[in-house]
Amino acid sequence: MEKLPFERPVINKLSAGMPGKFGMKTHISPVTHIDQVGVKELTGQYGSPLFVLSEKSLRQNFSEAKRAFETRYPKVQFAWSYKTNYLNAVCSVFHQEGAWAEVVSGFEYDKAIALGVEGKHIIFNGPDKSRDDLKKAVNNNSLIHIDHFDEMYTLTELAGESENKPKVAIRVNMDTGVYPVWDRFGFNYENGEAWDALNRIMMAGKLELVGLHAHIGTYMLSASAYGIAASKLAELAAQLEKKFGHVAGYIDVGGGFASKNTLKGAYYSGSDTAPGFDEYAEAIAAALVNSRIKPANMPLLILETGRALVDDAGYLLGTVIANKRLSDGRRATIIDAGVNILFTSFWYDHQVNPGQPVSEHTEETTIFGPLCMNIDVIKEAAVMPVLKKGDRVVISRVGAYNLTQWMQFITLRPKVVMIDPEGNVHLIRDSETLETLTSLEKLPGHLKQFRL
Ligand SMILES: *Cc1c(COP(=O)(O)O)cnc(C)c1O
Repeated sequence: MEKLPFERPVINKLSAGMPGKFGMKTHISPVTHIDQVGVKELTGQYGSPLFVLSEKSLRQNFSEAKRAFETRYPKVQFAWSYKTNYLNAVCSVFHQEGAWAEVVSGFEYDKAIALGVEGKHIIFNGPDKSRDDLKKAVNNNSLIHIDHFDEMYTLTELAGESENKPKVAIRVNMDTGVYPVWDRFGFNYENGEAWDALNRIMMAGKLELVGLHAHIGTYMLSASAYGIAASKLAELAAQLEKKFGHVAGYIDVGGGFASKNTLKGAYYSGSDTAPGFDEYAEAIAAALVNSRIKPANMPLLILETGRALVDDAGYLLGTVIANKRLSDGRRATIIDAGVNILFTSFWYDHQVNPGQPVSEHTEETTIFGPLCMNIDVIKEAAVMPVLKKGDRVVISRVGAYNLTQWMQFITLRPKVVMIDPEGNVHLIRDSETLETLTSLEKLPGHLKQFRL
């Protein structure tokens, strides 16, 4: 081999903030309090793991979203997306703030009614509404968003049986420049199906067309996609105005605004890249104001924002069970909160902080949950201070979808508390017990005894 020429060594200053194998090296500061309540006190009293929701953040997020839209458009109404988090306490906070209910199943519909939401303030979405669900919704004057022609025919039939003329909107799917297009829900805009559905409703005269709806996706990082969606819905409204002299009372642009969480594999953090409410509001308001709809007929703008209102109001507190070394030398920390209760860890790179003061020394660590399952990884690569058994960790921005998609698996689901704006802690969902689960089981008589 040829000898390489000598080069003198160069000493370079290591600049902090350069991405390495484990991403950006950031200083991990401890999160010792949530809304002034100590993490130690919370887990001490309610156990670990523990979900914590900040009522103050829920209300602040709501007023921020409301302000962003109301300063740009005259008539705005929010409807709380139940499936994003349907704990009664969370729904009630948003209802107190003035949000209607947006539900996607008979179960969610009943939950909203049981909470005291009037039928006329419930938006009923989704592809699976049974005949009985629809009947109930018609009798209660709820706003039914039709997903497909079969549902339209059922409603047309029901119209004959009820005193109330069903109040309907159609869900429209469309190309907004974000792919893949969610075209499995509703009627397509580009191929004319949506216009066809509207014509059928108007010609038959059995249903009262009160609005137009789209929900283009979730965690949508593009505000302009909403501008396109709003323009397309507005164009349908303008055509209804022109052909039938009919005014579609509202345009509902659905949910899907991104929260500040960071997607796995994303180079920049979500707090730097996700648009704020102002950007979404700007795109939507501009599209409506500049549309061909006559000024006198400007529709009510409905928003079904879920994730962006609740995600950062939720925390999951956990406790370190053990530390170990993996065969490649990597440090592994096992905590008592697993992917079964933190569903979003499959697509978010959640922020995990120590729950108590720590030293400056950090090490690349993989954080595992407690399940006896290889996939139970809370964070693949975290730069963490060294944590000891019994130390607390705080996982942030977990308020959306985890408390509805969590599953009971191997362990029982933990308590959920809400901290009110005065700093009082309220238990809003108790932990499961063996009895909670077995109360639903039935053991056939011939299986009641065994001898080992
Ligand atoms: C899920 C859903 C929402 C809420 O979406 P987020 O991404 O949580 O904002 C709103 N509308 C409909 C129809 C939905 O299915």
